[in-house]
Amino acid sequence: MEQTLVILKPSTVIRGLMGEVINRFEKKGLIIAGMKMIQLTDDILAEHYFHLVDRPFFPSLKRSMMASPVVVMCVRGVEAVSVVRAMTGATNSRVAAPGTIRGDYSMSGQQNIVHASDSVENAEIELKRFFRDDEIFDYKPATIDALYGEGEC
Ligand code: UDP
Ligand code: MG
Repeated sequence: MEQTLVILKPSTVIRGLMGEVINRFEKKGLIIAGMKMIQLTDDILAEHYFHLVDRPFFPSLKRSMMASPVVVMCVRGVEAVSVVRAMTGATNSRVAAPGTIRGDYSMSGQQNIVHASDSVENAEIELKRFFRDDEIFDYKPATIDALYGEGEC
């Protein structure tokens, strides 16, 4: 199974939406393999958003990401990277489709509720950025046989 990084951004934590968003992933049938609350810093954000450091909105993006602790999650499932990206929706929440997390819970292009890794390669890099090996757990949900058909996982 694939694993992907999800960050519940300060817009989720401050608005009291953590449970709602986590519930989306659980109801979908994704496995929460790791989860912890951390405070992001300048240094880790410069690394995590390296592709955006030269953009004019980078200082405000950093401020928004450090406004409160965040929750980092390792989410596991068959094709979890693309499944979670699809659930997340477009970057600008105002155009994110209804039914997606951003489309349902936010109005902003910046305060957009979640980060989700955009490729299998980046998911591996990003998970290593935020989790030690012993913080990701390999347990079997009781529902696993009803989540997938034979041979699917
Ligand atoms: N962002 C922003 N203004 C923009 C584009 C992006 O503030 O014009 C923020 C937004 O919070 C976004 C994050 O930068 O989630 C990372 O941008 P990316 O293009 O990687 O979008 P994502 O992968 O989060 O959809
Ligand atoms: Mg991105």
